[in-house]
Amino acid sequence: MTETDWDHFAELFVALCRSFHKAVTATTPQQARDYFDHLQDYPVRVIESAKADIIRGAKFFPKVVDWRRACDSIQSSRPTPRVPLTQQLEDGTTAPVYCCANCQDSGWRPACGCRYGDMDAHGMCAQHPRVDNGGVEYRQAMMACACRESNPAYQANRSRVSGAAREAGRDAA
Ligand SMILES: [Zn+2]
Ligand SMILES: [Zn+2]
Repeated sequence: MTETDWDHFAELFVALCRSFHKAVTATTPQQARDYFDHLQDYPVRVIESAKADIIRGAKFFPKVVDWRRACDSIQSSRPTPRVPLTQQLEDGTTAPVYCCANCQDSGWRPACGCRYGDMDAHGMCAQHPRVDNGGVEYRQAMMACACRESNPAYQANRSRVSGAAREAGRDAA
């Protein structure tokens, strides 16, 4: 977040207070500011998705550490597609080439049946918005793409990732 996200964040914070039946008082803006300072390294959309997860899953008003954990789990659960090959188009621009357009070779696609590329960067599908009773939007569930066994790009990426994990494990040992 940057300073320009402050107003947006302050609204999120007040909405979170209301969800937990926490009184909004004269000290709420200062409290929101403390949270803002300690969450600033996350993009505001991640913080907003984390807030939705907290409202659905947490019993108590989140501490900063709880909110950070929710942000971390959103960032780590979002599959990152490998850097694709590119092709040169006639107009001189380049476009990515995937072995599987459904999952963009990530091995994951949204469970609504749309393509990976149809979601925005936060896993929201515009065709199939998931909205809870409070009107809060949340991410599409992900499912394994059927291409996995036969997708050479996915396989190559997976062996590269598990190789890197082995390397890291060895260094730690
Ligand atoms: Zn696929
Ligand atoms: Zn969809």
